[in-house]
Amino acid sequence: MSLAELQELCLSESMPKFAAKQICDWLYAKQVDTIDAMTNLSLKARSRLNEIAYIGRSTPVNCQVSKDGTKKYLFECLNVSIPDCLSTDAANTQTIKQLNNQAIKKFVEAVYIPELSTSGGSPRATLCISCQVGCKMGCRFCVTGQQGFHGNLTSGDILNQIFSIPEFPSLTNVVFMGMGEPMDNLDNVLRSTEVLTADWGLGWSPKRITVSSVGIIPGLRRFLNESQCHLAISLHNPFADERLAIMPMQKAYPIADIIALLQQYDWSGQRRISFEYTMLRGINDELRHAAGLVRLLKGLNCRVNLIRFHTSPGTPYCTSTQQAISAFQNHLNAHGITCTLRASRGEDIMAACGLLAGARASRPC
Ligand code: SF4
Repeated sequence: MSLAELQELCLSESMPKFAAKQICDWLYAKQVDTIDAMTNLSLKARSRLNEIAYIGRSTPVNCQVSKDGTKKYLFECLNVSIPDCLSTDAANTQTIKQLNNQAIKKFVEAVYIPELSTSGGSPRATLCISCQVGCKMGCRFCVTGQQGFHGNLTSGDILNQIFSIPEFPSLTNVVFMGMGEPMDNLDNVLRSTEVLTADWGLGWSPKRITVSSVGIIPGLRRFLNESQCHLAISLHNPFADERLAIMPMQKAYPIADIIALLQQYDWSGQRRISFEYTMLRGINDELRHAAGLVRLLKGLNCRVNLIRFHTSPGTPYCTSTQQAISAFQNHLNAHGITCTLRASRGEDIMAACGLLAGARASRPC
């Protein structure tokens, strides 16, 4: 909950308004996990809060450790919601909700990625978190996308992935690049980034947070207007017809329209825009694609991150050769677009980009 929401709660329970600030301090600065630990609240207030509220922490139910130090945490989600709009048939929606809420436990994954500094600076530690169980976007090369959609995480379940890992105190960055499309669960994503960045919350700089999207334009516009966090667009092909073949959302939100929207914003300040580009052999890795990207991104102060594709069962794609990746990267850099190849981490534990599945998702209780 935000400070404003807690103030409302306190007033409705006849508690002093300043108690909301104290609760924020316990929740976010002191990170307590019980209401009883909030010792500057009156006993009566603590007792009432115990009746009507809970902290919502749940520790990971599993952790796999890669040989490169990456860790993949599995969380059971406590409050996944299924939007009514999934079905126009109310009875059917109810059935889906019952099935999802009662018979099937929901799991998401978060990936902790420690990085040693190459420049003598402080080491970085990034956590890649999920915002949905599964995903509706159906990107053909993504394991999460092949699972379908099983619900939205609350802001509590989003933040729990950050707060409940042992490495939380050492995290330097958080990226919303795990399971799900952030613009499709934007209220909860913005509520969680507000807790991370507000003075009454963790007080992080928005520069420590990157939110990714395939480019759902209404959500993107709202995100750009309401948040200062970095943005990463999943691009993967500069040509409309070819992008559509691997990313169904291209039909509703063409990449040209996404770029036109991004060009209306100022990218010369603190907030950064980057484009994610998974290298698929024979699909999007030729020099004509690199040239297409240069044309598409002309005038936009941005960077492109190339990602090696990680082969997984059931996908027909292969990763590009090193030669193709280097040629692609060199072409972009030579034409003024900063282009990096993202180091592949945690491949041996299925923690790398596009491989998150929530290992116990859809397993009946
Ligand atoms: Fe969803 Fe992202 Fe996977 Fe596309 S790449 S299906 S948006 S999780």
